[in-house]
Amino acid sequence: MSITIDKELNPWEAQAARFDFAAQKLKLDDGLWKILRYPTREIIVHLPVAMDDGRLEVFTGFRVQHSIARGPGKGGVRYAPDVNLDEVRALASWMTWKCAVVNIPFGGAKGGVICDPKKLSQTELEKITRRYTAELIEFIGPEKDVPAPDMGTNEQTMAWMMDTFSMHMRQTVTAVVTGKPLNIGGSRGRREATGRGVLIVCDEALKRLGMQREGTRVIVQGFGNVGSNAAQLMHEAGYKVIGIAEYDGGLFNKNGIDINKLVEYKQRNGTVVGFPGAEAADPKELLTTECEILAPCATENVITSKNADKIKAKIIAEGANGPTTSVADEILQDKKVFIIPDILANAGGVTASYFEWVQDRQGYFWKESVVNEQLENILVDSFDAVVQYAETHNVNNRIAAYMLAIDRVAFTIKQRGVYA
Ligand code: GLU
Repeated sequence: MSITIDKELNPWEAQAARFDFAAQKLKLDDGLWKILRYPTREIIVHLPVAMDDGRLEVFTGFRVQHSIARGPGKGGVRYAPDVNLDEVRALASWMTWKCAVVNIPFGGAKGGVICDPKKLSQTELEKITRRYTAELIEFIGPEKDVPAPDMGTNEQTMAWMMDTFSMHMRQTVTAVVTGKPLNIGGSRGRREATGRGVLIVCDEALKRLGMQREGTRVIVQGFGNVGSNAAQLMHEAGYKVIGIAEYDGGLFNKNGIDINKLVEYKQRNGTVVGFPGAEAADPKELLTTECEILAPCATENVITSKNADKIKAKIIAEGANGPTTSVADEILQDKKVFIIPDILANAGGVTASYFEWVQDRQGYFWKESVVNEQLENILVDSFDAVVQYAETHNVNNRIAAYMLAIDRVAFTIKQRGVYA
């Protein structure tokens, strides 16, 4: 396939390429194809914020609702300097497919604000969050669209969103967002859920490929919420985590890195760089270093036409959204790499968000063991469904996941009928 590098690296193009291919394989009705190819609603907001130095600044934010056919919109809010509408569109579409793959009653949505959270004070972040929420007031809600954390946002951001929404409604509405702190309607196990999901799908992949946890070498890219929890849980489960690649440096130890110690080190120092239990390594080179599992858990476009042919991993577990471009997919397919696609591999987060939403609406909170057990049930079933689908239809795992998801969403639309 010959496409320009700009197009290859545009997440919306990456999503659309897979969607078109899967829709064609499914022989999706042309009208349904038109409905599902583009988002239902795209909102752009401009947010005036009084900065700490007294200056007024205006930030731009987005919320895209790709589909609300199977339930309320669902998906995170990203704070990053390079967020743009095409990226949010792609991420919103991926949420639709992700929720359908794990068969939870949500559509797909995503939000973003163009800002650099590393350079903003807590007060400024709070003001951005509250104004963003206020601008979206009529578009979000437990039955409409339920935001959650993503890159650059966290439990505190969700607490501010929940509080702002609740002030406008004149009542506490915990189920308007998920990923909240525990004592204001958060769920036990939500924080670790995306990383736990990566562990669960890797375990399933090992079973399929006749491999064992012991001695399986893992390289994790990204050490934020997803990467650090995935690495820690895999380390504790007996995998050998030999490499960690972060944006500011990498670590390598052929005998395995003690991830519990690394988590403590990062908490103290704010970085993994300088950790005494491993050698310093080039984060880019770690992606192509020999290992059994490569888990990209940071952001988009990490595996591209530039490095895909040098990847040595047998399994790629996509903790991030969109880490592999569609051109890289073809190269990896030729190399017979077993890909656990993002819309399955990182679906643990939104699945636990679903449990949080259910608990908030019931006002009854589950033990962590219940959350983890339900999470495992859903992810194991979804993994089996995707791999089965791939075998039956002779397509790769990613296309199988898209086909399964598109088919479920299309079926729902047909059943509901189109208000046209
Ligand atoms: N931001 C996460 C994702 O991309 C979680 C979304 C959610 O929990 O709604 O899946």
